[in-house]
Amino acid sequence: MSTQAVISCPAWSIPGFLEVRDGRLNISGADALALVNEFDSPLFVFSEARIKSNIDRLQRAARTVDRPIRFCYASKANSNLSVLKTVLEAGIDIEVNSGGELFKALRVGFRPDQIIFNGTSKSDGEIDEAVRAGIYSINVDSIYEIGLVEQSVRRLRAAGNEVAPARIALRLVPEIGTRSHLGLQTALLTSKFGISSSEVLDAFRRGLQNPDLIHVCGIHIHVGSQTPDVEPFADAFKSMWEHLMRIHDDTGHVLEHINLGGGIPVNYLRDRSQADQLPEHERDMLGADLEPAAVLTEALRVARISARDAAAEHLLDRVTILLEPGRSVIADAGLVLTTVRNIKQRPETNDSWLLTDAGYNIMLSMNNYKWYYHLISASRAAEPYDCDYKVAGPLCDSGDVYFDIEREGRLPDYRKLPADVAPGEVLALLNSGAYSLAQMFHYNGRPLPAAVMIRQDGKPDLIRRRDTYEDLVANDVW
Ligand SMILES: *Cc1c(COP(=O)(O)O)cnc(C)c1O
Repeated sequence: MSTQAVISCPAWSIPGFLEVRDGRLNISGADALALVNEFDSPLFVFSEARIKSNIDRLQRAARTVDRPIRFCYASKANSNLSVLKTVLEAGIDIEVNSGGELFKALRVGFRPDQIIFNGTSKSDGEIDEAVRAGIYSINVDSIYEIGLVEQSVRRLRAAGNEVAPARIALRLVPEIGTRSHLGLQTALLTSKFGISSSEVLDAFRRGLQNPDLIHVCGIHIHVGSQTPDVEPFADAFKSMWEHLMRIHDDTGHVLEHINLGGGIPVNYLRDRSQADQLPEHERDMLGADLEPAAVLTEALRVARISARDAAAEHLLDRVTILLEPGRSVIADAGLVLTTVRNIKQRPETNDSWLLTDAGYNIMLSMNNYKWYYHLISASRAAEPYDCDYKVAGPLCDSGDVYFDIEREGRLPDYRKLPADVAPGEVLALLNSGAYSLAQMFHYNGRPLPAAVMIRQDGKPDLIRRRDTYEDLVANDVW
């Protein structure tokens, strides 16, 4: 560790994790430029300490409510095996969305009873894998899928496997909007997810038909990602709670858990210097500061009232609450270091352009959802950010830019950086640990970057090796 004290605390800094040392960006004790020298650019950097502190924040929230709470990390946010291992060591469970994520979860050592499986289009093979493993819950997305799980149990037993009745939960789609992107909202009737309210009771009756094959253990709603307000969570929880009571009244069956999904937001605008260039609703959503404790407290408060009215508090006291946080575990624990490879002036528009080596093939949300990732200079982290640049990635696609090419103003037209940024300068896209590494692809024949995890002692471990050219052709048959 440098003996020189932290010389400045910019708004984006996070003590002990994201700091300025010797004028340069320092990540949990590791110097950003030294990382690029050692591991090349672009580079994903994660902080083990920050992942653990994010999980600790969730666990502290759980302790504020007197109720059994389980957190199942939504592995689609980032399913790198070292990230999953860090999550496992921190003591929480996992949510998977495919046979591949189930495979990864089991590979790093999650016990089957720590795993939840969501998804709209599970294949027979994937269902078999989940049933054979005996996971905590397969969340079925339609009435039809209940039959598929039953068939899987029959099929596996017929093949001589001893399998217990599969545990399932029903995923519902109440009409609950949020102030997030439409593509990230999952509880609208226009959404592809879940069983609609009018079919819920039929679905439960169907689920209870063959108790030797399946055990209905829970109910699930995921209102969507980056949900900035407490109300959609509370509405979803109340809706599930009321279904739970209805099912109990109707059938005597008691559900073990209510799964409130993911969506706890991350504050992408700790540095608000460019926030006024975002549309108001984007600004509110991206700058959300919602404590998980507030979500749990409000959800339980609302359910408690309805439980009291129905004299069903004994049922509420028995229920386990599940949350599936993805983004809030990993987004601000990761960033991308990228190098300026080329610069140009456009005298006609008076623009200075910076061309980096990080394109939308590693930052898909920046293009898909026009997601704002705050950009800083890792080389000159503490200098005044008073010059405007047009910034773009390396892909042969004019949409590979850090602004809104469609001119709908969803991203700032210019990024603020210190004066005279030159080729070779290292920049950092902050808060980019979620839905980036997990979504990257080889477009333009670009080998995918390496990733490192800064350990608690400040030492970087390679957690993903950089692709070689051979990796680009590994699956091509010719
Ligand atoms: C994506 C997803 C999550 C995670 O959402 P975050 O916003 O990353 O917390 C949780 N549950 C389900 C069902 C999901 O689809």
